[in-house]
Amino acid sequence: MLLGAIADDFTGASDLANTLAKGGMATIQFVGTPTDAAPADCEAGVVALKTRSIGKDDAVRQSLEALAWLKAQGCRQFLFKYCSTFDSTPEGNIGPVAEALLDALDAPIAVVCPVFPATGRTLYMGHLFVKDRLLSESGMENHPLNPMTDPDIRRWLRRQTKGDVGLLAYDVVRRGSEAVSAALAEEGRSGRRLVVVDAVTDEDLRTIGKAIADHRLVTGGSGIALGLPDNFRAQGLLSGRAAALPPTPGPACVLSGSCSTASRAQVADYAANHPALLVEPADLLAGSMTTERAVAWVEEHWADAPMVYSTADPHQVAEVQKVFGRERVADAIERFMGDLARQLAAKGLTRLVVGGGETSGAVVTALGLSSLRIGREIDPGVPALAADIGRPLGLALKSGNFGTVDFYDKALRMLEQP
Ligand code: ADP
Repeated sequence: MLLGAIADDFTGASDLANTLAKGGMATIQFVGTPTDAAPADCEAGVVALKTRSIGKDDAVRQSLEALAWLKAQGCRQFLFKYCSTFDSTPEGNIGPVAEALLDALDAPIAVVCPVFPATGRTLYMGHLFVKDRLLSESGMENHPLNPMTDPDIRRWLRRQTKGDVGLLAYDVVRRGSEAVSAALAEEGRSGRRLVVVDAVTDEDLRTIGKAIADHRLVTGGSGIALGLPDNFRAQGLLSGRAAALPPTPGPACVLSGSCSTASRAQVADYAANHPALLVEPADLLAGSMTTERAVAWVEEHWADAPMVYSTADPHQVAEVQKVFGRERVADAIERFMGDLARQLAAKGLTRLVVGGGETSGAVVTALGLSSLRIGREIDPGVPALAADIGRPLGLALKSGNFGTVDFYDKALRMLEQP
């Protein structure tokens, strides 16, 4: 393994893994820190933790555990991935984790760059913008867990750290990677080990990526990874076999628990040409719909790649939530989808496409998946995946509003012959 990443949440890890795979690295996303060694052909490993909003001591301990495992896999460079809106509190966890990783790696310096231009997150003079608004006026100031009330990332981070925090401003970034390297070295000499670096475009991120080729630790959003694969490629270290997944012909199924606008259109499109079973939350809660029934129905329709869905319109969702309670409904559906995936896997399922972020999380947990190999992108932000369940399982995990209207069909075709 060349590059080892530690991500503070699951979807952030997926996003980073997708970026690295697109950059041409053979990438695997690990669910938690593994105990076994990584496959020999893995060039970039992304360990997905859930440390964004837990106590800072626990976050530091888990991050150091992940680092120790990545070091044991022979990684040359390490990346700490957090949210591009810098989700944290005055206590942490970004600062304490970054400093602990610097110490453990005996590294003199690391950049701090939560920039993701594709989603409008840019940084100028150390101030983070979400599209045309400062972070603290973007809605993030009302976040239930980590209200972001200060857009000055240098000042916000300094509240979390032991050491001083530096700033590398945009005019330097625009002068190119040599200027960035020199300025970072200067910051390091001044004893500022964490340096907030401005960036506005993908090109800026590539410039920074090139400048930090020999940094042991990099920190940022998934955008900071854009320039890193090229550094390994320039050294002749990449196999060029990234994204090669095993074909998984055979029984296929779509599970959709997402109720977002794109998902509703995708479900309607797929149901027009495939058997589709609607699962009503009320039936689940009353016990008149069970996993066993759904499994039997899917088995009857295996040949036609059936879909089981709870996807509903907003007014239906609101109504059922009013009667039974939001959490109770969500729990019932997520447990059902997870159980269904597990039972179908036991019966020989080889391809599974899941609609919904939370729904995907429930399915990954229920299947007990510990790693996901990242393949080609099906649609922007949604790669084909392969898991090992004693045999290869082709997977696509699509959250909310991703994907074109024919996503489900397209995903199943791509997984059949990646
Ligand atoms: P998305 O990625 O679109 O946000 P998620 O799977 O993350 O999708 O979230 C959808 C949530 O809505 C899940 O918690 C799911 O259990 C719940 N849900 C799914 N179908 C229904 C329904 N018919 N009524 C109420 N809640 C639902």
